[in-house]
Amino acid sequence: MSALVFLSERVAYLPGTNNLGVIVAPDKHAIAVDTGIDKEAARVLRRACEAVGLTLAAVVSTHHHADHVGGNDYLVRNIPGLQVFAPLREAAFIEDPYLEPMYLSSGATPLVALRNKFVMATPSPVHQRFESGSLSVRDIPLTIVDIPGHSLAQVAVVIDDVCFAADGFFGDRVLTKYGVPYAHDVAAQCASFGVLTSLSVTHWIPGHGDAVKRTELEQTIAANQAAITHSRALILTAIQTPKTLPAVVATVQAVLAMPSASLAQYAVFASGIAAYLNWLVADGAAVAELSAEGLVWRRV
Ligand SMILES: [Zn+2]
Repeated sequence: MSALVFLSERVAYLPGTNNLGVIVAPDKHAIAVDTGIDKEAARVLRRACEAVGLTLAAVVSTHHHADHVGGNDYLVRNIPGLQVFAPLREAAFIEDPYLEPMYLSSGATPLVALRNKFVMATPSPVHQRFESGSLSVRDIPLTIVDIPGHSLAQVAVVIDDVCFAADGFFGDRVLTKYGVPYAHDVAAQCASFGVLTSLSVTHWIPGHGDAVKRTELEQTIAANQAAITHSRALILTAIQTPKTLPAVVATVQAVLAMPSASLAQYAVFASGIAAYLNWLVADGAAVAELSAEGLVWRRV
C-alpha cells in the first residue's frame, strides 16, 4: 500500500506518478495538494490519510490539468463538507473540464478520442478561488506562489520548509520521457524557475519526479532549463524552412524518435510545440505568417 512520506510533523506527500501533498490540519483533518488523475488515485490518497488517522477536509488544486484534479470529484462526492480551493484563473477549467480538450482542438468540439481522463477530468466544484499570497485553509496558513508557464495560472503551495511545486519543474525521468517539456508559455515557465529557486524552503515536491532538496535544486532546474534550450534549438532548426504546426511536430518527433502513443499525447505535445513557436515569435527569433500551406512559422 502506498504510504505518506512525512517531511515534518504536519507536512507529507504521497509519492507516485503524481506526487500528492498532504498537510495536517487541526482535529485530525488533512488538506490535499492535488488529487491525481482519477478516482482510483483519490481513493489511494484517502486511504493513505486514513492509515495515519487523518480525514481529508480540503483540496488545494495547483492547476487544472486532468492528472492533477481528476480525483477531486471522488473526494467531493465521498467526503461530506470537503472544500476545493483553486487559483482564480484555473478554476473555470476545473469546473468545466471540457475546456481542456476543447482548447487542445483549436476551440473545436473535441474528437471522442480526446475526451478521456488524460486530458478531460471529471468536473469538480471550486468552493473558493484564490490569488497569490496568504491563504488560510482549515486554520492552516499557506503561502500561494504564482508560477505560471506550464499552465495559465499555475501556483506552488508553500508551508513551513516545503514547496509543493506542481509542474513548475520536472524530474529527470519525466524530462527524458517527453523530450519537449510541456508549457503553455515558455518565457513564463523560465521566469518561474527563478521564483521557485528563490524560495527559502528545504524541500521541493514536483508533481512528477523525485522530491528535491536544496542541494539538488540548482542541478534539477538546470536540467529543466537545458531541456527547454534543447527544444528551442530543435524547433529553430525545423523552421529553417517555413512549416505549419503539424509539420514542426512531425519534424521534432522524428528527430527525437518519439512518436505519440495516443491522440491525447499528440494533442498535448502539439500544444506545447505551439507554445515554443509563439515564444520564438515574441523573441524575434521567428515569424508567423500566412502562406499557401496555411499558417507557417519561419526562422529569421
Ligand atoms: Zn500539468
